[in-house]
Amino acid sequence: MKPVVNDSCIGCGGCEAICPEVFKVEGGKAQVQQADYDILKEQIDEAAASCPVQAITWEE
Ligand code: SF4
Repeated sequence: MKPVVNDSCIGCGGCEAICPEVFKVEGGKAQVQQADYDILKEQIDEAAASCPVQAITWEE
C-alpha cells in the first residue's frame, strides 16, 4: 500500500509537518516521497486524518 495525494490538495503543508519523511509540498501540492510506508503508517494515517480536504488516501 502506498499513500497518494489527489487533486483536492491545497498545499497547506499540514501533512509535511506531521510526516516529512513522506510528504513534501512542492509547487503548491503535496508530493509523496519514496519511504517505508509500513513503518510510517501511523504518521501517514494521522496526516490523512488531519488533511483539511481529505486529499490523502491509500492505494494498492
Ligand atoms: S494536508 Fe492535505 S491539503 Fe494540506 S498539503 Fe497535505 S495533502 Fe495537501
